[in-house]
Amino acid sequence: MRIDEILKAGGPVFSFEFFPPKTAKGSESLLGTIAELKALDPSFVSVTYGAMGSNRGQVIELVQKIKNDLGVEAMAHLSCTGHTSGELEGVLDQLAGVGIENVLALRGDPPKGEEFKAVPGGFGYASDLAAMIKARGSFCIGGAAYPEIHPDAGDAETDLAHLVTKVDAGADFLITQLFFSNADYFDFVGRARAKGIGVPIVPGIMPITDVGQVKRFTAMCGAKIPADLLLALEAAEGDSEKVLQIGVDHAVGQCRELLQRGAPGVHFYTLNRSPATRRILTALR
Ligand code: FAD
Repeated sequence: MRIDEILKAGGPVFSFEFFPPKTAKGSESLLGTIAELKALDPSFVSVTYGAMGSNRGQVIELVQKIKNDLGVEAMAHLSCTGHTSGELEGVLDQLAGVGIENVLALRGDPPKGEEFKAVPGGFGYASDLAAMIKARGSFCIGGAAYPEIHPDAGDAETDLAHLVTKVDAGADFLITQLFFSNADYFDFVGRARAKGIGVPIVPGIMPITDVGQVKRFTAMCGAKIPADLLLALEAAEGDSEKVLQIGVDHAVGQCRELLQRGAPGVHFYTLNRSPATRRILTALR
């Protein structure tokens, strides 16, 4: 089923994001984790796309198994990095061939320490990919959005203007980068609506399970950790259960307020681990 139709049906849309493991054994174990999480009745599950498409075979295999074997709706991420438009068309053909209806159209990140550069015959922006997918007429298209501004963008206004272009090009819904302060999401949604963006904007939430890891992620993506949350996490560092509980409590509080104040659902960055997401969703329900 198309995700825009799921979103239209109303009710909170909960989704889980996973990345493809490096080994076949890892993929089997991930499918086991997703099968267990099926009990939580996710609206869909998404699978990330590796830099330069190195794992494209795995992404296609995983989304098709999630959809066709486990019976859970699936979305494939697809990024422009390192691909010509012909190669991207080829991946879309394969996804369509295994019955996938949902694609998250992304630019992708450049290799570490480099600036993003489109390959000859490739695309420089996610909006170009969204336009190409739209022209095929069959996929429901998602796009990424950044409440705290994309790190390459000069300023919030320009970043938002580029988001308008992405939605005009064909994005049917948006999923945000992770954030820890709901004020950033609500402010962003207000600014997006004022610019005429009418599509659903699903907040992306990452349950904190590891202090070092969350510091690394936020340094990369530009999200801020509120000072009181950071203090509590640092005080608990070394006690993994305590850190997990602080992360879960914070995420539950965030999700409750997001849903109460009109967010269409929550997309969980699971980092391939189920316990935190399971605890959060159980508390929410
Ligand atoms: P774009 O929308 O193209 O934006 C990138 C930058 O270019 C922004 O600064 C924007 O303001 C600017 N820009 C856009 N259009 C124009 C224009 N016309 N002219 C000038 N500037 C412009 N990465 C992966 O590699 N694999 C994944 O699976 C993956 N999944 C993700 C899932 C989510 C929900 C999110 C939020 C991010 C994900 N990413 C993933 C990370 C993403 O690829 C990076 O954040 C990347 O740097 C930007 O991708 P984008 O699709 O947002 O790019």
